[in-house]
Amino acid sequence: MLTLLDFSRTELRALMQEWGQPGFRGDQIYDWLHKELAASPEEMTNLPKELRARLAAETQCNPLQLIVQIDSRDRLTRKALFRLTDGATIEVVLMLYNSRRTVCISTQVGCGMGCTFCATAQGGLMRNLSAGEIIAQVHWFERYLRQEGPAELHVQRPTRLTNVVVMGMGEPLANYQALIKALRAIADPDGFTLSARSLTVSTVGLVPMIDRLSGEPLPIRLAVSLHASSNRLRNQLVPINKRYPLESLLAACQRYVQKTGRRITFEYALMRGINDSGQQAGQLADLLVGLLCHVNLIPLNPIPNSPFQPSSDEDTKMFQQVLERAGVAATVRLRRGIEINAGCGQLRQAAQQPDLIQMI
Ligand code: SAH
Repeated sequence: MLTLLDFSRTELRALMQEWGQPGFRGDQIYDWLHKELAASPEEMTNLPKELRARLAAETQCNPLQLIVQIDSRDRLTRKALFRLTDGATIEVVLMLYNSRRTVCISTQVGCGMGCTFCATAQGGLMRNLSAGEIIAQVHWFERYLRQEGPAELHVQRPTRLTNVVVMGMGEPLANYQALIKALRAIADPDGFTLSARSLTVSTVGLVPMIDRLSGEPLPIRLAVSLHASSNRLRNQLVPINKRYPLESLLAACQRYVQKTGRRITFEYALMRGINDSGQQAGQLADLLVGLLCHVNLIPLNPIPNSPFQPSSDEDTKMFQQVLERAGVAATVRLRRGIEINAGCGQLRQAAQQPDLIQMI
């Protein structure tokens, strides 16, 4: 079965011509999908009945089926677990702030990068998501905000998403083509119309792909998961560091900044006694000083079967101060959705264990 969201505007025109239809039918379908967020061909009222029937028989608009969705206690974070057409499951998170409404999306089922503190890594990589499966995650929460929107919003309802962060399951740059195709559709000024500057892609640090990304015409933001200031430690926490060690990763970041003029965010999950000492903060500052960047310190979300624990609030503060004093901008990311397993890959894992799903 074809997933219509996998098709660009041009590809939909071509599909319609293949079906013996005029090309503009493709434009109409694209507009229904990306502007009106149509969930079925029934809604596409300017298409001939027979075409709607064929679309209904041979294609799907929405490849996501909701399994469970849960809100955090303050109702500002909502996490959804979806089943894809082949039965695989993925997580998507909506986070509400005062002025931002951000969706965090997945790009793979599982992940092959093997970071030792990450829940998604524990199951390995199952497959890449298609562009349509990536786009559908954004559309799903956009539909929710447009149609009703949570009472907690401090803005007039209904409203729209303001930001998309590609920080859910998977390594986005390991699924490059589908990622770019999806981001293009999301940022399409004649489509979904989210500003590309509101899109952030987080990578474990795949050097050749960072170079490739810097050549894309889309002005998206880049975040790099660093988590350590020495190769010895990073090799243990983020095993891909053995292939792309810190020197080569930071050189790629430097090239990225030079080429795009855009600031890079470095993510650093603080783990007690592992990567949170003042000395390590100093070492990190030495690596980053002078680079157009910003460090996002994330209190670790502890996961089952892993020895890593979050740093204390004092150590977190101290770490941030060392960076700031050395001239490296650093903020501490708000802890969101801890009690709803909103950390990377955690809801999916919980849903596979019947005793834990009770808690949900
Ligand atoms: N593969 C990409 C994006 C997905 S993860 C990447 O590595 O950047 C998004 C962020 O969450 C990454 O910085 C990742 O290292 C971090 N992360 C994973 N597990 C975590 C945990 N248990 N606690 C805190 N951050 C975690």
